Amino acid sequence: MPAFHIWTLGCQMNVADSLKLAAGLERLGWTESAEDTNADLVVINTCSVRQHAEDRAYGRLHELKRRREAGGQFQVAVMGCMVGPKTDDLQRRFPIVDVWARPQEFDPILTTAGVARDSSEGEFWTETFATPTGVTAYVPVVHGCDKFCTYCIVPLRRGRERSRPVAEVLAEIRHLAEHGTREVTLLGQTVEAYGHDLIGDDAGADLATLFEGIERIDGIARARFLTSYPKDMTDRIIDAVADLPKVCEHFNIPVQSGDDTMLTRMRRGYTVAEYEERVARIRSRMPDVALATDVIVGAPGETDEEFANTVALLERTRFDVIHVAAYSPRPGTFAYRNQEDDVPREVKSARLQVIEALHAESAGAINARMLNRTVEVLVEREDEGRCTGRARGGQLVHFDGHKRLIGKLVDVEVTGATPWSLQARQANALMVL
Ligand code: SF4
Repeated sequence: MPAFHIWTLGCQMNVADSLKLAAGLERLGWTESAEDTNADLVVINTCSVRQHAEDRAYGRLHELKRRREAGGQFQVAVMGCMVGPKTDDLQRRFPIVDVWARPQEFDPILTTAGVARDSSEGEFWTETFATPTGVTAYVPVVHGCDKFCTYCIVPLRRGRERSRPVAEVLAEIRHLAEHGTREVTLLGQTVEAYGHDLIGDDAGADLATLFEGIERIDGIARARFLTSYPKDMTDRIIDAVADLPKVCEHFNIPVQSGDDTMLTRMRRGYTVAEYEERVARIRSRMPDVALATDVIVGAPGETDEEFANTVALLERTRFDVIHVAAYSPRPGTFAYRNQEDDVPREVKSARLQVIEALHAESAGAINARMLNRTVEVLVEREDEGRCTGRARGGQLVHFDGHKRLIGKLVDVEVTGATPWSLQARQANALMVL
C-alpha cells in the first residue's frame, strides 16, 4: 500500500487542509506515514505569513533534493500559501517538486497520487471530511480574504472570500461528532465574513446561523471561532455568542495597532474608537469574556508615538492573550512595493519585548483572578494521571484525573495560575452530554 507523509506549517487553516487531504488520500487506499523517509509521497503544506516559515519549507525542500539525488524514490508535492497563481520561479528553484497545489486545491495532488477524477463536484469531495485526531477539530467555513491589508500576503495566495454552504458545514460537524469530536473551531481568515457571498437558499446566512445549527448537533459540547475582524462583527453575532450555551465566550480580534494613522497605513478599515466600541459591546453582553488580540510592531513608518498609542490601547483593554509579531515584509504585498521597511531591527525587537512583557503582566493578572473559582474544562488528553484541557475562555488547565475523562466536561477548582496556564483540582466530574 503506498504511503504519504504531510508536513504542515502555519495556521489552523493549514492543519485543517492537511487533515482533509489525508482523509482523501486514505480514501484512495494510501496510508499515512509518521516519517517522510518511509513515504512514497511527501507533501509540504506551506505558510507565507512570515519569512521564517518560508525558510523552513525551503530547508526541507533542499533536504528532499539531496535524498532524491542519492537515489530516493518518492514524489514531492508542495501546497498552501507559498503556491501563488504563478509558480515559475519556484519551479525553477525546486525542480524536484512533482506537483504544486494552491490552498484548498487538492486535485493536483490527488492526480499525482494516481487518481483521475471528475472535478465538477466543486471544492474537493464535499463528502470527504477530515478524520478527527482528538476531541477538538478545526472546520474551515470561509476561505480567502477580501480585506487586502497592506502588509498581508493572504488575499494574494488564498484568494477572495468564499463561504462553504451551510448544509455542508453542518454535515461535516455531524460527521465529526459521530467520530468523537466534542468541540469545533470554525475557521476563517475573517470568520465573521462567513455568508456574505452566499446566494440561493443560503442567502442571508451568517456565522450566527452556523452557531444555531451547531446547538442542535448531538455530541458537540462546544464551538469556538477564529479569527475575528472588527468591521464584520455584527451585534447579531455577538448576541449569538452570548446567548447560545455551546458557543464559548472567547474572541480573538486582531487590532494590529492602537494608532489611527498606522491603521490607515495598514489599510485595516477601522479606527481605534470603532475597535473599542466592538470590545465594549462584547463586554457589555459577556463581562467574563476572554479576549485575545494580535499586534504587529515595527510596521513601515511606525513612530515612537504610534507605538506608544498601541501600548496605551493594550493597557486600557486588558487582553487575556496578546499575540505579537515584528513586521516582516512579504514580496507581492502593497507594503512591500510602496512602504519602506524603515524601523530598525533593534527597535522592532525592543518593541516586541515591551508587548511580550505587557502580555505576561496582563494575562498573569487575569488568570490570577480565576484562583479558587470553579471552571468547566473539556479534557483533551491525559498523561501519567495528569489531565489537560481548556476552559471556555481557552485557558489551558492541568489537573489530576483519569484518562476516562478525555472528551468529558469536568468542573475543576483553580488552585494555581500563571500567564500561560491554570493548575486545578477536580471539583466533581460532570458528564454533561
Ligand atoms: S484581514 Fe488583513 S491581515 Fe487578516 S487575512 Fe485579511 S488581509 Fe490578511
